[in-house]
Amino acid sequence: MVSALGELARTPGMVLRIERASIHDGPGIRTVVFLKGCPLACQWCSTPESQSPLPQTGLDQQVYGRVMTAHEVVDEVLKDEVFYFHSGGGVTVSGGEPLAQSAFTAAVLRGTKEHGIHTAIETTLFGSRPNVARVLAWTDHLLVDIKHVEDAEHRRWTGVANSAILENLRAVAASDFAGTITARVPLLPGVNDDDLNLFRTALICKEIPQLDQLELLPYHRLGRAAYRNLGLDYALDALEPPSAAHLADRLEYLNNAVPEVKTVLAR
Ligand code: SF4
Repeated sequence: MVSALGELARTPGMVLRIERASIHDGPGIRTVVFLKGCPLACQWCSTPESQSPLPQTGLDQQVYGRVMTAHEVVDEVLKDEVFYFHSGGGVTVSGGEPLAQSAFTAAVLRGTKEHGIHTAIETTLFGSRPNVARVLAWTDHLLVDIKHVEDAEHRRWTGVANSAILENLRAVAASDFAGTITARVPLLPGVNDDDLNLFRTALICKEIPQLDQLELLPYHRLGRAAYRNLGLDYALDALEPPSAAHLADRLEYLNNAVPEVKTVLAR
């Protein structure tokens, strides 16, 4: 007899890479499965090789992306099982955008969860409601980016409208999703770090019963080499990362403006 998991495990996905021993992508020590394919094109994206759903060859002659089955991914994840147990960690499926491969993402999450391992996804929530539900059914912790609450600005900087993202987030908040949610803002000076945008973001977070915290992710330019490697220009070359003083100021602003929402700087 072929189990439901057996059916799912044969679902192929396009994987960018698998990183073990991460401490930045959810609680504890985690294995992060980065998928290829993203419907957004954030100008600050630090992994441009994750945007295309197809394999790419860089100037370094490395091929970025390979097809794996969910079963193969779960086998990789299980290698660090002992570390998850002792640290409260688990697996995180990241992108690209995990919802762009929702059947594969759900299969990986289900396969690991059925081993008692904690599951998380890093997502924009840019996807259809059925795809969100399919993935969340096997998710313990949701890490969701809120890049800009103003639609025109969201389109300008990411290439897509934010309506589906915000509607999905509100729908998850109102649903029986029993996991936890961390909201995150990639903080870019002059792009989305103004009082109004941060205030409105925190107000959205305030309405999420499953929220544990709002994280500010300081913008960095570490992805520039990846653009060069793919023969692409980096659009934000002139944008300086936020200073420590500016980050402290933005954090203080949010903690004063919306104290009901626990806001922290990302680790
Ligand atoms: S959502 Fe993430 S992976 Fe997609 S373009 Fe934006 S930063 Fe890159």
